[in-house]
Amino acid sequence: MISSRKHGSLYKLTESFHSAMDKDQVLAELINALQSMYGAFLFYLFLSHDNDSRLKLPTKDLYFDEQGSADTAMEAFLTGAIRMDRSQPDKVHVYVPLKGRQGVYGVLEVIADKNHPIKESEIEFIMMLANAAGNAMENAQLYQQSRKLIDDLRLINETSHQLNKNLPLKDTMKFLAERVIHSFNAREAGFYYRNSSGTDQLLPGSTGFFITPEADSYLSFVLSKIENEREGIFIGNLPAQGFSNGIYQCLMAVPMMENGQLRGYAIALHEKPYHFTFETFKLLQSLIHHSTLALSNSMLREELEALVKTDNLTKLYSRNYLNERIRHSMNEDRHGVFILIDIDNFKNINDTYGHQIGDDVLIQVGNIIKSSIREKDVGARWGGEELAIYLPQADPEIGICVAHRVLERVRSTTSPRVTISCGVSAWEAEEDDTPKMLFLRADRALYQAKSNGKNQVIVQNRIAK
Ligand code: GH3
Ligand code: MG
Ligand code: MG
Repeated sequence: MISSRKHGSLYKLTESFHSAMDKDQVLAELINALQSMYGAFLFYLFLSHDNDSRLKLPTKDLYFDEQGSADTAMEAFLTGAIRMDRSQPDKVHVYVPLKGRQGVYGVLEVIADKNHPIKESEIEFIMMLANAAGNAMENAQLYQQSRKLIDDLRLINETSHQLNKNLPLKDTMKFLAERVIHSFNAREAGFYYRNSSGTDQLLPGSTGFFITPEADSYLSFVLSKIENEREGIFIGNLPAQGFSNGIYQCLMAVPMMENGQLRGYAIALHEKPYHFTFETFKLLQSLIHHSTLALSNSMLREELEALVKTDNLTKLYSRNYLNERIRHSMNEDRHGVFILIDIDNFKNINDTYGHQIGDDVLIQVGNIIKSSIREKDVGARWGGEELAIYLPQADPEIGICVAHRVLERVRSTTSPRVTISCGVSAWEAEEDDTPKMLFLRADRALYQAKSNGKNQVIVQNRIAK
């Protein structure tokens, strides 16, 4: 019979097992409770070796034990029923399975010596405790699994969402790399994209390791395998030999496939052997699979943008082309002028007349720019309702003159009527200057023109260094 005092403690322990929500915690509480109740017995836990207990518990491996007691423990584990071993004359070993509804999670070993023989009622109570613990472990495991599943789904979902935003590739890749490093606990993450000329390009967001020579052995290994097999690679213990003295021993790599073509690949590394699990590998595969299409679309878009010389709407030059021309001019010429133009209150035009009329106004301003400059000058769409002019071999006076001419024509000929603000900057070969500084000065001047009341030209003098 079980005393009511014992019933009380069984109730309390069961409650505390269930609130643990962690398998190790349940086991620790079980062992502590047993040891304090039954000081005369010894307690051990037989756990299967996938149970990587972080707590200091008296555990034995279920599949291997030098004393041979694992056989009976294994029997209890497989049958889910209590087993006794009386083969030693002065000791009794009792094996109690830690059982839940869906499986057995380990075996509790109780060792009693003949000076303190174990009573039937004690075995009965220990069984009840073991059952309570088994059920609590099962709940904890289910809880952890569902938490993990939710985290995995959230990761895939958030990543897809981010990729569909069509952000610049740089931002998308940064996001992806951060995710891989954070969610997979990777030490290094590298992403390679095979561009249209067939070379593998390291994408932004990848960790710095991939630009070091130490990365070469890992890369050539991954590449040869992926090119042949077109499948992911998961290796828990890479040898040190041939792999930069074994800096990293755990490796996952997943190809980016599109229409049966290899578009690139992702690699994750960690120094600790078996750091990544097979589960993480499958998750990485799923993540890359979901990201490949969006990724190659934004790569293509950026490649195209770089190739395109003219803006589709205004037929002015593209910003890329303008940059190129300025860079070239700053190398070859003696001086030049840059004019940044922003349409005033353009949002009002869209709001009042609609987007299409807004587009038409942009075309009108574009045409005014084209007709106000020389053949070798560059009129460009800077972005949105911002336009720009570059005048190679021109001094600031000419620049100011051109800016005023455009400003006057826009004010008097556009319909519906708009005005513009201009920021002008200039460079000379004698002084140290860069395209970036030239843009920045014009941008600052433009800002000033806006704050002064718009519809005007402001010249930014070079700030002496
Ligand atoms: P500000 O005088 O300070 O420049 O005011 P703003 O209204 O011109 O400036 P804001 O930056 O608030 O608004 C710019 C607007 O230009 C918003 C955006 O929708 C519109 N826009 C940008 N590109 C295009 C385009 O290609 N077509 C049309 N119709 N509108 C555009
Ligand atoms: Mg603007
Ligand atoms: Mg504007």
